Amino acid sequence: MKKHVCPHCGEAAFSPLRKAMAGSLRSSGKPCPNCGRKCCNGMGSIYFSAVTSVIMLIVCIFAYITMEDKVVSTIIIVAAIAANFLLCFLFDMFFGKLTAPIRLME
Ligand SMILES: [Zn+2]
Repeated sequence: MKKHVCPHCGEAAFSPLRKAMAGSLRSSGKPCPNCGRKCCNGMGSIYFSAVTSVIMLIVCIFAYITMEDKVVSTIIIVAAIAANFLLCFLFDMFFGKLTAPIRLME
């Protein structure tokens, strides 16, 4: 499986799962297995989650307004939230670049 390149040492040391667990720019990130310095997901991850969050919100509102059956609308809303979480997780696993957390760049 393709590994992600660490922004500090340039080594492809991050597995997709480790990258997905590294969090966003606002988190403290995860240490690189090679150099030990912390990395997190960059701006691409934030833009992607912003887009999917808007879509999720529209789906939730739409389900709430149009569905007569409240059980069905609740299931759709829960599914939309889960799908949003899963999509962001998959995006972080396979796409986007690693970067240094903002807290460490200051
Ligand atoms: Zn490194």
